[in-house]
Amino acid sequence: MSIVVREISKSFGEFAALRDVSLEVPTGSLTALLGPSGSGKSTLLRVIAGLERPDTGGVSIAEEDVTAEAPQRRGVGFVFQHYAAFKHMTVYENVAFGLRIRHRPRTEIRERVGELLRLVQLEGFAERYPAQLSGGQRQRMGLARALAVDPKVLLLDEPFGALDARVRKELRAWLRRLHDETHTTTVIVTHDQEEAMEVADRIALMNEGRIEQVGTPRDLYERPGNEFVMSFVGPVNRVGDAYIRPHDLELCSEPNGSTQEAMVERLVHLGFEVRVELVRDDGTRLSAQVTREEAAALELDVGQIVYVRAVRQTTFTS
Ligand code: ATP
Repeated sequence: MSIVVREISKSFGEFAALRDVSLEVPTGSLTALLGPSGSGKSTLLRVIAGLERPDTGGVSIAEEDVTAEAPQRRGVGFVFQHYAAFKHMTVYENVAFGLRIRHRPRTEIRERVGELLRLVQLEGFAERYPAQLSGGQRQRMGLARALAVDPKVLLLDEPFGALDARVRKELRAWLRRLHDETHTTTVIVTHDQEEAMEVADRIALMNEGRIEQVGTPRDLYERPGNEFVMSFVGPVNRVGDAYIRPHDLELCSEPNGSTQEAMVERLVHLGFEVRVELVRDDGTRLSAQVTREEAAALELDVGQIVYVRAVRQTTFTS
């Protein structure tokens, strides 16, 4: 049940939201569309769903060209940021809805809904109404409802976008486990690189209506194809033409041939990790990342002078 997007362009008036976008989402994968606000992620997802008609190009789902098909004939399950539930129906009835309108037998509906509520960990909530659920529970109900009719693909548009940071993190881990159980081909839109890195097998990074790079989270982080990818996927320092990840800066207490002097301006203790904000005498700011043990060994303190060396750096030839 792969998704193939071929040379899609889409403009709104004069504005080109998608420019010749091609993408393959392999069967059973969880692919993230990642990118800054306005880069075209939602538009691409809506084109795949059939909610937006492209100006040029085509979409195939499960090897079938669906470019001219209406959304309801594409076999897609869709979940938005604010999941629109039927307020007057219980959780059970919401999840059962798609099966009821397909006139599935009552016993099959009961079994399937029970199984789905277990999958989204809402077994005890079947008789509640949507207003009696937390935001995270409502989104999980949305996923159950989308999965009920066995969609060929699942399309998620910032499904956890409206939730607080802790719940988002929990739901990410939960979505990953759910995907490992169901293996439904899934595309998730997010502007949060950490969310994409944590949840997805593959990331398509978008910028200004184009796909900059497609790969595993590790590929994008370790082998970025250009400056945009390097800067968007994880924190980075820029020194002249060189890009240096914070963990690739080594801090020493004594100078040696290749080090440069810098002053510790700020220390942020994040459990295992310590983030060290540095300033050099020419005013350049650098961010380094060391372990708690390394910080203790260097006796790091604000105002202290340290000697900095890049262990690894990346430059791009344009
Ligand atoms: P965000 O993370 O902010 O949702 P996005 O990457 O999902 O951003 P899109 O929603 O795809 O971006 O929008 C891409 C561009 O197309 C934006 O500049 C947006 O203003 C524009 N756009 C989207 N839908 C329409 C529309 N129906 N009419 C006019 N312009 C639109």
